[in-house]
Amino acid sequence: MEKSKFYALPQLPYGYNDLAPYISEEQLKIHHQRHHQAYVNAANAILERCDKARKEGTDFDVKANLKELSFHVGGHLLHSLFWRNLTPISKGGRKPNGALADALEKEFGSFARFKKEFSQAAVSVEGSGWAALTFCGQTNRPIIMQIEKHNTNVYPMFRILMVLDVWEHAYYLDYKNERVKFVEAFWNIVNWGEVNKRFEEVLK
Ligand code: MN
Repeated sequence: MEKSKFYALPQLPYGYNDLAPYISEEQLKIHHQRHHQAYVNAANAILERCDKARKEGTDFDVKANLKELSFHVGGHLLHSLFWRNLTPISKGGRKPNGALADALEKEFGSFARFKKEFSQAAVSVEGSGWAALTFCGQTNRPIIMQIEKHNTNVYPMFRILMVLDVWEHAYYLDYKNERVKFVEAFWNIVNWGEVNKRFEEVLK
């Protein structure tokens, strides 16, 4: 099957109302259909602009285009990971299990300690950005990182296991400016099965 040469908005693996009360239907809809879609559209528009200029042999502002492209592709890919590491309360476990649980306990001492550090990372992102749980293939350590805007400063041998969007557009309708409350709510809808699956793929 030929792959599309453009990005597409992925469907959510649950309904718009399924993450309530932690993320309301209105908030999730706007976040997915407006914000995420806008990154997809913008990334594709830049690719089209590049295609056109290359075909016509005209110049374009390479630096400006690449900067814009990395922002929108980053936005698209991070949101795609984010939706999948969330799950409705009925299916979401409150704690990780399997190999991931062991790795977190080994690194952080306890799940509670990991949760505390990840929450602190999310709450303290300056302006718009993300908190990410990554795994470093060189040191075999789970490492928490902050991402500014969508600039994924995660290195090639790091794999992203879980992300939390702390742009204001992710929570403003439900929590106003209270990011702390959104971060607390997040723990109720983490799809640990998915996070553990990503971790097990790293171990292969
Ligand atoms: Mn977002």
